[in-house]
Amino acid sequence: MKFPKKVRIFCPYCKKHTEHQVEIAKKRPRGSMTHGQRLMKRKLKGYGSFPKPKPTGREKSSKKVDLRFKCLACGKKHTKGKGWRAKKFELVKV
Ligand SMILES: [Zn+2]
Repeated sequence: MKFPKKVRIFCPYCKKHTEHQVEIAKKRPRGSMTHGQRLMKRKLKGYGSFPKPKPTGREKSSKKVDLRFKCLACGKKHTKGKGWRAKKFELVKV
């Protein structure tokens, strides 16, 4: 789907509607363990059964979009809701 680069939404910092620049959140940098890795490590230490591998099924063809809204009035970024599923996502100029 297509989404405008600039939207006018509510800014929780300014407490009013302002222009926001939309950006897609970047992937997290590698290095530190992910949440799943931490759980796995804890599980392998003992207590409880040995972890079973996740059942493999078909992969989902769509991904959730993760957007950040940057307020052009105060310069702060915030998110809005949980995002939605889309096969293809792009920001377009309006
Ligand atoms: Zn603001």
